[in-house]
Amino acid sequence: MSPWDKDVGLYVHIPFCRRRCHFCAFYLEIAQPAPMARFHSALIQEIALHRRQESLDSRALQSIYFGGGTPTSLPADQLAALLTLIRATWPTDVTAEVTVEAHPSSVTARDLTVLADAGFNRISFGAESMTEKDFASIGRFGQVQDTAAAVQAARRAGFRNINLDLMYGLPGQSLQDWIHTLESLMTLAPSHISCYALTIEVGTRLAQDIAQNLVLPPDDMLQIDMESAAERFLAEAGFSRYEISNYAKPDYACRHNLLYWTGGEYLGLGPSAQSYLHGIRFGNVADLDAYVAYLSDNRLPTSDHTILSVSERQRDALVFGLRLLCGVPRTAIEAAERDHQIDELIAKGLLDADHYRVRLTSLGRRYADTVAEQLF
Ligand code: SF4
Repeated sequence: MSPWDKDVGLYVHIPFCRRRCHFCAFYLEIAQPAPMARFHSALIQEIALHRRQESLDSRALQSIYFGGGTPTSLPADQLAALLTLIRATWPTDVTAEVTVEAHPSSVTARDLTVLADAGFNRISFGAESMTEKDFASIGRFGQVQDTAAAVQAARRAGFRNINLDLMYGLPGQSLQDWIHTLESLMTLAPSHISCYALTIEVGTRLAQDIAQNLVLPPDDMLQIDMESAAERFLAEAGFSRYEISNYAKPDYACRHNLLYWTGGEYLGLGPSAQSYLHGIRFGNVADLDAYVAYLSDNRLPTSDHTILSVSERQRDALVFGLRLLCGVPRTAIEAAERDHQIDELIAKGLLDADHYRVRLTSLGRRYADTVAEQLF
């Protein structure tokens, strides 16, 4: 088997939102008809160029993921047509996971029916919280009851695999508020939950507000309590924590994200999308005008290429694999020649090891970035 006979997935970055949430640092533009039309044409050209260059050889896609931004900023019929084009361009495994992210406060019941009928079989809603005051503190539009309505409409449309993205440690959010969010969402019976601790990204509105003492920064100890509460609560509700931020009902772990954590390969389309193919990491330009200009000129909109050496690939496999609760095989440690660092991390209580596997401890999960830095 060649090293590149691996599972492969496709990511499509739709870089539009109605407005920018205060914490969000993703590359995106405010949704307007003219830039969305230019993006749509350029994306079709990007697919054609990758097909011509045979970027994905003949492997069948195991996952397709439309993320953003808010993919459902584009008309649902357009998303459906894009999925049809992708499937006509590349072979797709019959069991492929096909995800679309959606905003609960703007997606309609008709949109959801069109998306399910087109073949999307997993939907991910950016719920964030079930407390109205949290929406105000992070600049998220909509109302908390929109999430329940969207999940019910998605189920009626035929979606069985439904994820809810949540955030904790929001400005002014208490432990009780967080538990209220978890309790409220359980009534919606999602199959997957992602819980992200709020982090403050440079250049965001929230970073500015904190710098001007208008908002308090996240409280580390409270975030730790919230993480522990989520782990306990979700375990009792039948979810397994399989990655630092991700919990799933049996058989509902996100296959697309597992590609990232297990050294699988992926092609990214759209501005700022990242790819990893044939041992090369490359990224698209994070600018819509530049993206459109490259593609109008019949050139792929890539801005950087990094060819990973064998040892860099082994190190990446270790760093990403340790995000999984099951950890990595001991052989991965030996291959990456990180035995010394691993011994130090075990001594600090950040890693745990047996004869077969090495994994993060609960303390290590809180300091996963520190662990990753030590392994680089
Ligand atoms: S909806 Fe999502 S992608 Fe859009 S601004 Fe808010 S957090 Fe960012």
